[in-house]
Amino acid sequence: MNIETLAVHVGREIEAGTGAVTPSITLATTFERAVDGTFPDGNYVYTRSANPNRNGLERCIAAMEGGEIGIAFASGMAAASALLQAMDAGDHVILPDDLYHGVRHVSHEIFGRWGLQVSYVDLTDLQAVKSAIQKNTKLIWAETPSNPQLKINDLAALAELAHSIGAVCACDNTWATPILQQPLSLGCDVTWHSTTKYFGGHSDVLGGMVVLKKESELAQRLRQIQSLVGGVPSPFDCWLLQRSIPTMPLRVRAQSETALQVAQWLEDHPRVKRVYYPGLPSHPGHEVAKKQMRSFGAMLSFEMDSKAEALDVTSKIKVFTRATSLGGVESLMEHRATVEGPGSKTPQGLIRTSVGLEHIDDLIADLAQALV
Ligand code: PLP
Repeated sequence: MNIETLAVHVGREIEAGTGAVTPSITLATTFERAVDGTFPDGNYVYTRSANPNRNGLERCIAAMEGGEIGIAFASGMAAASALLQAMDAGDHVILPDDLYHGVRHVSHEIFGRWGLQVSYVDLTDLQAVKSAIQKNTKLIWAETPSNPQLKINDLAALAELAHSIGAVCACDNTWATPILQQPLSLGCDVTWHSTTKYFGGHSDVLGGMVVLKKESELAQRLRQIQSLVGGVPSPFDCWLLQRSIPTMPLRVRAQSETALQVAQWLEDHPRVKRVYYPGLPSHPGHEVAKKQMRSFGAMLSFEMDSKAEALDVTSKIKVFTRATSLGGVESLMEHRATVEGPGSKTPQGLIRTSVGLEHIDDLIADLAQALV
């Protein structure tokens, strides 16, 4: 089935007993055992281990990514941390030099103390990735398009390289979503999400998901981390996500089309120094993006000459909201280096933008008045 159909139907089956066409919310934390010790009404024992709403969500997102296994977490960062927790002390992990700053902090400041070795490498340079490989490299971690500089990593090439050394290739697919890019079909073993963004789509629920192509030791470890460490989403959060997923293919395509037009308009503006958007032929990753993405996503960054100029623009916008995060129906804008804080490598003039579902003319008019 196609992804639109999977988004509507997987995990949202007609409910036995009531015929309800949308799932009920199962708030119970515990489930009755039969006298012989079995669970005749399903395999539910205790909600930290499994819950019907979580199960529906996991099946749905796994199907949309073309994977067999979905493992849900309470946030994207809980999902990312689970992947790192699945490594052994002393393992070496290659991370992109441009990536969501929370992953940089957690890998270094939390897992570094537990003996994880981390290298930050420009993944657009395959030679640099090869040079960073060590005997104990167990994971190559891509993020494409990357946050906030929209670098494009060649997923097929990275997966091949990872497999040649017996390592796993994982991709943070939060920005592209499976609507536009399916890392598992390009050779990656794992894909993961902040479902807070496009899956939720309305800036009102936090979540994370890891999807694996098939059953493996890594999948077993991740399930164990989910259930024992317990960073799981509530049944209501799972339900909210499932409430939003059927409209996600339409939302993502519309937002992505508008983002391309915004990027083209910004590229022609004399005050804008540089636009970071893989849909523009001027972007260094455009050809790879064309190969591995269906369209180029709804995130873009643009650079002004200085921090002062960037702050001037963000102080004037009216339709865009000055806020962090992304993937919701409303367009957002932020001075990224401020959000990332001390140690940020993001250019000081860079403004990160999440394009929502407003009309293109209103967004352009807003940018035009902010950029005079
Ligand atoms: N990955 C990417 C690419 C992100 O942009 C974010 C959040 O902004 C995360 C992961 C973290 O997700 P969460 O905020 O749901 O923990």
